Amino acid sequence: MYIPPETLDLIRSKVAIQDIVKRYVPSLKKRGKNYTGLCPFHKEKTPSFSVSPDKQIFYCFGCHTGGNIFTFISKIERLDFPESVKFVADIAGVPIISEKRGDTDALEAFHRLNRGAMEMYHAYIKSPAGKKGLGYIASRGVTEASIRDFAIGYAPDSWDYLARGLIKSERDREYAESMGLIKRSQKRANSHYDVFRNRIIFPISDINGRVVGFGGRTIGDDPRKYINSSESQVFKKRNILYGLNRARESIKELNRAIVVEGYLDVIGCHQAGITNVIAPLGTAITADQIRLLGHYCTEIIFLFDADSAGLKAAARSLDLSEETNLNIRIGMLPQGDPFDYVTTKGPREFMAVVDTSLRPTDFRIARVMDDFSAAGRAGTLLRLFAVIRDLKLETERSEYLKKISALLNVDENSVRADFKNYMTNQQPVPATSGRPGPVSSEQVDVVTRGYRDLIRLICHHPELISKAAIDFTIGEIQDQLARNILWKMTELYNENREFSIDKIFDFFTSGPEMDFLNQAMNDEFLIENPGSAYTEIYLKMKVYEIDDKINRYDALLKSSPGVNSNIYLTEIEVLRREKEKLLNFVYNKVS
Ligand SMILES: [Zn+2]
Repeated sequence: MYIPPETLDLIRSKVAIQDIVKRYVPSLKKRGKNYTGLCPFHKEKTPSFSVSPDKQIFYCFGCHTGGNIFTFISKIERLDFPESVKFVADIAGVPIISEKRGDTDALEAFHRLNRGAMEMYHAYIKSPAGKKGLGYIASRGVTEASIRDFAIGYAPDSWDYLARGLIKSERDREYAESMGLIKRSQKRANSHYDVFRNRIIFPISDINGRVVGFGGRTIGDDPRKYINSSESQVFKKRNILYGLNRARESIKELNRAIVVEGYLDVIGCHQAGITNVIAPLGTAITADQIRLLGHYCTEIIFLFDADSAGLKAAARSLDLSEETNLNIRIGMLPQGDPFDYVTTKGPREFMAVVDTSLRPTDFRIARVMDDFSAAGRAGTLLRLFAVIRDLKLETERSEYLKKISALLNVDENSVRADFKNYMTNQQPVPATSGRPGPVSSEQVDVVTRGYRDLIRLICHHPELISKAAIDFTIGEIQDQLARNILWKMTELYNENREFSIDKIFDFFTSGPEMDFLNQAMNDEFLIENPGSAYTEIYLKMKVYEIDDKINRYDALLKSSPGVNSNIYLTEIEVLRREKEKLLNFVYNKVS
């Protein structure tokens, strides 16, 4: 049974772990910040069982059992995870609709409420009171016809426009809350408020054209530019693509889909007459979504904005494309996003960009070449080797080695010799997909310790995940344990820009990750300045990375003293200087 993360959050917001634990551990007493008592999971005479109300977790220092509220119930009631969620949901008074019961009434209600909400938002944008929303969307260049065709709406800057107009019964209220349309007020009992306020509303339909959720773009100063409806029985973001219900026929006919990043991008393209265009729902495209497209066409073109966020998304879809037999190509706009580009330049120039899109390997090579002036010739060469190493066929590798020697204007034979050495001496050059590569024992020591320290730090200062998500390329971490944990933490943070640490136990319900997290969270951990502790870990790992590169150049120099020697020597010099700068920074900062 599938329980959407929003439902878990809802349950969590209504119960406190210490209250539930107390039902099973009568000896539980408050002591300082935490509660302690006799462990219900092993026999003991002095209490070693502890509950942290701040972190909403429990841990026994005697038998090392620990986790969040759902873990506790699953262990003490001997239930599996979904059963324990239901158990806690009952206590919290949160309805969980069972799919087994085939609750068609509920599904109908979900559709009815979504349809009603769509109509209310759409009516508002057309009313005199909705002038602000209409003005915004029209000023961007969206036509009246598009507003109608895509049923674009406006959620007014009101606390109860939807809550008052849409909700007719207690059940409606529960369903609307579980779909993330309204939220229960913390201040006033039995009162609900609208989730979408002062936002342009983009209704999201399933393949049959039924509204299943909404994306809302703020036109005020909310730092969350876009928000979406919650995952629900009808709205499973991984399986839905924005615009697919309208684009499906033309994707079939042209045997080609163009994937853009945003709702407005889709609308702009359709408006310009390019109708085989769709978008994922505010995240990088998933494997499920690519598979879904594969039902309708064999060629998929990813078209990205001319900024770095788009490129990050590209890196992810590149990994996915390896799994499918689809013909994947990637294009990047020279400026702006698809909406602005197609609206100002017209469909013909837009399609010219689409037609120059590249195969994934060529795209990766082009991006490496973009950084040529920063990375230098040797640095670029190594990065290109990493791209070529990922190719499966020897003939492909050979073809690309020829290509890059021409691109870099270096002797082809020495490039081939260097690549051969690179492959034999290969120190871990992590693949973008995070595939485990060969790992030297030294790397396990330094880098793994670094990442594990980082996780410990985040367990006690969860706000640091916002930095780590940017500073580290999680997919490239070799240590599987650290990668799994940091990946999940980053995902949780990216979902709604806030992150409470107990949620991590929804995903790790057993195994080494759970053991590690339990220990990490319950270590005596006193750090005066978490910010500088973070910087210290970060710099240490950067310095290590530089040393690692220097060693690799050294190895190349020794094994093939030849045409490119002076390039490697220059590169080593540059790296040494960079390292010196970092080290000075470390000492000034820490001492
Ligand atoms: Zn115990």
